[in-house]
Amino acid sequence: MVKICCIGGGYVGGPTMAVIAYKCPSVVVTVVDISVQRITAWNSNQLPIYEPGLDAVVKHCRGKNLFFSTEVEKHVAEADIVFVSVNTPTKTQGLGAGKAADLTYWESAARMIADVSKSSKIVVEKSTVPVKTAEAIEKILTHNSKGMDFQILSNPEFLAEGTAINDLFTPDRVLIGGRETPGGQKAIKVLKDIYGQWVPEERIICTNLWSAELSKLAANAFLAQRISSINAMSALCEATGADVLQVSHAIGKDSRIGSKFLNASVGFGGSCFQKDILNLVYICECNGLSEVANYWKQVIEVNDYQKSRFVNRIVTSMFNTISGKRIAILGFSFKKDTGDTRETPAIDVCRGLLGDQAQLNIYDPQVPEQQIHKDLSMPKYNWNYPIHPVSMCSDDLKQVRVVRTAYEATKDAHGICILTEWDEFRSLNFQKIYDNMQKPAYVFDGRNVVDVEKLRQIGFIVYSIGKPLDP
Ligand code: NAD
Repeated sequence: MVKICCIGGGYVGGPTMAVIAYKCPSVVVTVVDISVQRITAWNSNQLPIYEPGLDAVVKHCRGKNLFFSTEVEKHVAEADIVFVSVNTPTKTQGLGAGKAADLTYWESAARMIADVSKSSKIVVEKSTVPVKTAEAIEKILTHNSKGMDFQILSNPEFLAEGTAINDLFTPDRVLIGGRETPGGQKAIKVLKDIYGQWVPEERIICTNLWSAELSKLAANAFLAQRISSINAMSALCEATGADVLQVSHAIGKDSRIGSKFLNASVGFGGSCFQKDILNLVYICECNGLSEVANYWKQVIEVNDYQKSRFVNRIVTSMFNTISGKRIAILGFSFKKDTGDTRETPAIDVCRGLLGDQAQLNIYDPQVPEQQIHKDLSMPKYNWNYPIHPVSMCSDDLKQVRVVRTAYEATKDAHGICILTEWDEFRSLNFQKIYDNMQKPAYVFDGRNVVDVEKLRQIGFIVYSIGKPLDP
């Protein structure tokens, strides 16, 4: 019976291992984490992350062939295959600060695998890492190998939060990179046989290690680039009277372009896009490719521009001052169907509004109050100036109220700012909301979820990203 251990039970490690356990009943999967809080939650009815469909998958396998434990070393020692799915954030200090990946967690996991192993293992990179990381890991493992064989595979994860279970059940592709040696090819086959239990063979792509590592960074860079491209277009639409929804529909019909990932918005967020592009930028710079680095940097510049453009629009629309005005923030997570707030545009938008002395009523169906306060009070590292983290002062944070419904948030507000495309925001009773707001009542739709014409008929002044402005 194959034993799998996954180091890191976060947004990736938890769902991916639950699905492997679900699809491969003869494999025993143990997820280990140094966070007692996370493991306790995985073993409870209140899982540590919100992801549609995840509860059912975990409940089906937990205690049978899926286990969660803090006994990291014990389970790593016993495993045949060790996935490493630890966090790989952007470095905040030292060489490469603000761009390079911080591989501290990765390196300590690799050293621990080397220390505790008593048998040969396949070590799988699940985390997103810089290209050539496997070479460094091989050095750590082989220097401590005590005669054991360690094969390193790169198997980057392409799931998207909010649709993770569906993505894992029916992936567009599974990518496995390995050494072109007999040992490397044998290891690829072992992993391929596991995924092959539910993923069609033509969807399993095998490459060399460096192609697999780089493909993950490239995929995120291309996805984020599409968002920045349509967002850049949204600014031009507003300036010219074109409608970005009509433009994206028209260009998306071209099969060479395609319609996915063409929604204009207040900007992309999430723990990966910015981090992985910065990582790519750093790798380009290290390889003397500054023009290529500058190209990818622009994707992030446009994203930052989109967020500040949105804040400026709010302030200028409300007679150039929002001091003391109440603004309802609907949605705080970086996208719908997740409670994840890492790099959410809501943080920058709220901080921008607070900087202009607004009062905020924040509502999100999945993000707890403490998380919102924590996100807004943490020093924020601007990727351009990583050495000087920007903090909010505590007086600004006193202007934040986290509430339990959209109706509570909008009561007596001067404006509404929609920052996450939660389905419930599409079916709110806007007449009731309008009646309870200060007048003139504004809606700033950062996700294009509302029916602009309908709201204008009610009496709202509406600004929707990339749409013609109020006549
Ligand atoms: P996460 O922060 O949610 O989870 C990482 C977990 O690893 C944490 O619970 C942490 O306690 C644990 N950990 C760190 N060091 C450890 C150690 N030495 N031993 C045991 N546990 C340890 O991160 P995540 O969102 O799951 O992302 C993990 C990796 O996957 C990152 O490299 C990320 O870029 C990549 N990725 C993320 C997504 C996503 O949507 N979140 C998608 C694809 C790839």
